[in-house]
Amino acid sequence: MEYVCIVHKEKLKENLMSPCRGRCKLCKLKKVHGFTNPDHITNPFGYLYLIPNICLHCSHEEKKCMWC
Ligand SMILES: [Zn+2]
Ligand SMILES: [Zn+2]
Repeated sequence: MEYVCIVHKEKLKENLMSPCRGRCKLCKLKKVHGFTNPDHITNPFGYLYLIPNICLHCSHEEKKCMWC
């Protein structure tokens, strides 16, 4: 069960892709996974992951959308 607000429901279709790269804005731990990006355009800098603001754990604990 994931907590995602109506605005970000679309994001549920994306898949977990990168290992924990992002830093969670709540627990400050670097364990936020990158997700596949439907708007990604091939570029020389690498893949542009979608990184949520908070980690899955905090999202569950706080019952908050991790993309807000
Ligand atoms: Zn967290
Ligand atoms: Zn949201």
